[in-house]
Amino acid sequence: MKFVNISADEKVPALGLGTWRMGERRALHDEEIASLQRGIELGMTLIDTAEMYGEGATETLVGEALVGRRDKVFLVSKVYPHNASAHGTLQACERSLARLGTDRIDLYLLHWRGDVPLAETVQAFERLQRDGKIRHWGVSNLDRADMEELYAAPGGKRVAVNQVLYNLTRRGIEWDLLPWCAKRNIAVMAYSPVEQAALLREPRLRALAARIGLTPAQLALAWVLSRDKVIAIPKAGQVVHVDEDFAAAACTLDASVLAELDKLFPPPHRARPLEML
Ligand code: NAP
Repeated sequence: MKFVNISADEKVPALGLGTWRMGERRALHDEEIASLQRGIELGMTLIDTAEMYGEGATETLVGEALVGRRDKVFLVSKVYPHNASAHGTLQACERSLARLGTDRIDLYLLHWRGDVPLAETVQAFERLQRDGKIRHWGVSNLDRADMEELYAAPGGKRVAVNQVLYNLTRRGIEWDLLPWCAKRNIAVMAYSPVEQAALLREPRLRALAARIGLTPAQLALAWVLSRDKVIAIPKAGQVVHVDEDFAAAACTLDASVLAELDKLFPPPHRARPLEML
């Protein structure tokens, strides 16, 4: 497993587990718990969740999966923008901690930018960090201009991560956001790395994957993992998919495959606004 540094003294697995839409359907409960636990067992020990997912139901599911395993996992959760005020952030964090059944979140993110000034949210994150409720903080869905504003705010340079949409069909961040973050040692967490499974039906990706003996998911994930300082968090609610995704961590794509992927899914040739799902 490749690791990515998110601070001078903390590294996390480059392949983690997403959880959006988990915990919402009773019939899927056992398989979802088994999937998360299988991922942890394999070494995909970064779990990404949010208070938004299932309006708390997903954090509750994650908490259940973590019983007896909390210390093996780097746990990421997110605060809603409308809760991200000085006081609201502290309260939202307490609610997340209770649902997750833990006393600390390893990385707490602002889910996207809302009306609360970024500087106010940073102050709340720093307070939570001082109180030992969170270990690191970061943001999600912030484009370059927002990142610059954040970086200029008091304490803003301590941002550890920006979590954004990034996969073979969503390469816009390569124009400036990705290099901007890399230059400042801010890790990028790639969400929807298989485009919510749509990429897996892409005929050209499928053909190339078959030719080199990978599944489409493995090729799409191995490509994300080939990027420097990028963490991928695919969501898989089926154990068989977790096993398949995990195998991507062992794949190294050679230069000719990377070049072919650049032809099929070209990098950006101009600045584009950050895309969101
Ligand atoms: P994704 O990970 O790109 O795709 C998830 C879908 O792919 C699921 O339907 C899953 O199926 C399927 N899948 C995964 N591995 C597969 C495999 N090997 N073979 C076939 N199908 C496979 O999409 P996502 O859930 O949107 O993104 C991942 C995570 O990023 C989220 O869960 C969430 O934690 C985070 N996220 C964050 C934001 C944000 O605003 N910060 C936005 C979106 C997502 P099964 O579930 O049936 O296994």
